[in-house]
Amino acid sequence: MAFIHLLAFLALTLLTQIGGMAYLGALALGRHWRGRRRFRRLAVMAMFMVLYAGLSLSASAIAPSFGRVPLPCHAKEDAELAVQSTLYCVLNRHYVTPELKQVVGDLAKHMAARFPGTRLNVLDANFPFFDGFPLLPHLSHSDGRKLDLAFFYKDRDSQAQIRETRSPIGYWAFEEPKSSVRGRCTGRSDILSLRWDMDWFQVFNQDYQLDERRTVAVLRWLVGEGAKRGVSKVFIEPHLAARLGVRSKFIRFQGCRAARHDDHIHFQIR
Ligand SMILES: [Zn+2]
Repeated sequence: MAFIHLLAFLALTLLTQIGGMAYLGALALGRHWRGRRRFRRLAVMAMFMVLYAGLSLSASAIAPSFGRVPLPCHAKEDAELAVQSTLYCVLNRHYVTPELKQVVGDLAKHMAARFPGTRLNVLDANFPFFDGFPLLPHLSHSDGRKLDLAFFYKDRDSQAQIRETRSPIGYWAFEEPKSSVRGRCTGRSDILSLRWDMDWFQVFNQDYQLDERRTVAVLRWLVGEGAKRGVSKVFIEPHLAARLGVRSKFIRFQGCRAARHDDHIHFQIR
């Protein structure tokens, strides 16, 4: 039983940073349970949820002492910037440094000015506390200075989707290389790799196509105005950067073992 508790603690900590603490707290409180024995597990689960919610709410107040601030989880309907899914907020994966928040806010304003009504959707950011704490499965999101952005999409009638992404969680709707282009990692089958194909997930994706104009506008801003504000690296698959016609020394390839970047844009600041 101790082993299962240890596994649950580790899984919750790796997934949400503070979930493991809430789990230990709930187990400790559960020892004092005086109600019917068969309800103890339910009581522990309820206590975990209450503790987790309390700690998550406190995190946004405490995070600034660790140099992190939350990105907007409860954006209004017409907001120009929002966390793409409440999932990232529930899991406490929506924290960045104030400098990064300023940069992504400026980018969102630029996009809304150029394409009125557009919302910039952000995905995984960082946890609220401690530099160096890994935000799996990302290899580098550990210091508040990295952020993933969702692509922009159009439906089959070429209508721009203002808020929606092709994937319900923003990730794993891959833009495969056109048939005449060979991807940099085509044919490789590394055992240790985060380059997942996620075939099982594809049924959840909508029938949208990449909105190249708006996606290009994001990339151009990041390597132009963004670079002046501290953007130091942008990750996107080479075949996609070539297809979109964006070249810059700031656009890099993450390698064939790191997560794919043909379903989102990653950027980081100095
Ligand atoms: Zn990233």
